[in-house]
Amino acid sequence: MENTQNTPKRSGGKISYTLQAIGLIPLLALGIVMLFFTSQWFTKTMYQEVERELYDATKSATTLLNAAYPGDYRLEGDVAYLLYKGDVDITREYSLFDQFKEDTGLDITLFYQDTRILTTLYNAQGDRIVGSGAPDVVIRDVLNTGEDHFYINTLINGKTYFSYYSPVRNQDGSIVGMLFIGKSSAAVSQAIQRYVYPLTWLIIGFVALVAVCIYFYTRRFVAVLLHIHSFLSEVASGNLNATLDHSVTKRSDELGDIGRCALSMQRSLRTMIEQDALTELYNRRSGEKKLRQIFEEAQSFRHSFALAIGDIDFFKKVNDTYGHECGDAVLKNVSALLKQHMWRRGFAARWGGEEFLLVFENVDLAEARKQLDLLMDKIHELDTLYEGQHVKINMTFGLVCESDKDVHTLLKEADEKLYIGKTNGRNQVIS
Ligand code: GH3
Ligand code: MG
Ligand code: MG
Repeated sequence: MENTQNTPKRSGGKISYTLQAIGLIPLLALGIVMLFFTSQWFTKTMYQEVERELYDATKSATTLLNAAYPGDYRLEGDVAYLLYKGDVDITREYSLFDQFKEDTGLDITLFYQDTRILTTLYNAQGDRIVGSGAPDVVIRDVLNTGEDHFYINTLINGKTYFSYYSPVRNQDGSIVGMLFIGKSSAAVSQAIQRYVYPLTWLIIGFVALVAVCIYFYTRRFVAVLLHIHSFLSEVASGNLNATLDHSVTKRSDELGDIGRCALSMQRSLRTMIEQDALTELYNRRSGEKKLRQIFEEAQSFRHSFALAIGDIDFFKKVNDTYGHECGDAVLKNVSALLKQHMWRRGFAARWGGEEFLLVFENVDLAEARKQLDLLMDKIHELDTLYEGQHVKINMTFGLVCESDKDVHTLLKEADEKLYIGKTNGRNQVIS
């Protein structure tokens, strides 16, 4: 099986969209709500600011008027009325109001009762709108009740104003008129927009930033799932050498746990498939596979190798004499010895019931023979203690080492040599 690279073929999928939706939909909703409430709050705050500004301006305008023209208001004249404050005819005294407008940027109007007498407001023809009446609502709210009132949308002469109306009283407390201070709505809107626009962009920027973070975090999260999926697909299709991306196994969270579980599942599967359950040696299938690999490497790199097939002598007798369980114990013992002996020399596999394949790497026949003789000595020393009985065994081996022959022929020849050893009295190596 090939060792394949488990790179995800897709960057996302349904789960990616689901996770992004879970993050992005509430975020967008939050952004819209934040935008709505922040602009509402800001607009309200601005209105309160304007109200305070107009209130302060009304107070200072009143103070200015009283200081410039001390005394009460009164009308004089029969046909054309003149408005006096104290001893001064203020009917055309615009200078104070014009100066006020220049200083504050606010419009100001003095009403005698509900009629405009002095004002900084002009009509389209460029005339001051003196002589016109106050809106009905203002007459009702201010003139009739004697209370200050703030309006956010007063239409005067085709233009809308934020306006503050305050009753004007003489010293005896009687209401003689009203003072209007106004700020054009356009100017307030401009001020609101000047703050709300950057705020809007700030919120949009924040939402976009969080959205980008969610997007990339989701992609990274899904990439891990895709790595695991890809790995499991490889394993499911039979590639037990598939590798799991390191980015998954190094994680300390549940995804890392899943990755590690998948790896250990792969290891268990490999063990189950490649190992013989009783002896824990390679089974015949994987032994043959390993032999072919070694054969191919030897062909490519011009290495030599040797293979031997060994069979326990008169093993049936062990079973018959001591029982099948004892036979199993002997098989395990022999296998452990073979495994230990072949460590770094090559490998051992269980070839059949009491038959074993040994493959020696990078050796010529003489060296393989030497190593096999050494093994024979260890086998002679091997003693299996089973229920108080010492069970000893011998083995016979057929050994071949010819690099110009194929695996099938080599196995056949090793088997033939083993047969010769069996017929020649067993307990020997035939090469
Ligand atoms: P020879 O020297 O000719 O090889 O004689 P042998 O008795 O070893 O050969 P034979 O083929 O007659 O018998 C092999 C025996 O090995 C028969 C079988 O029951 C036993 N055997 C095979 N596999 C196992 C196993 O897994 N456990 C046990 N206990 N016995 C096994
Ligand atoms: Mg045998
Ligand atoms: Mg046999």
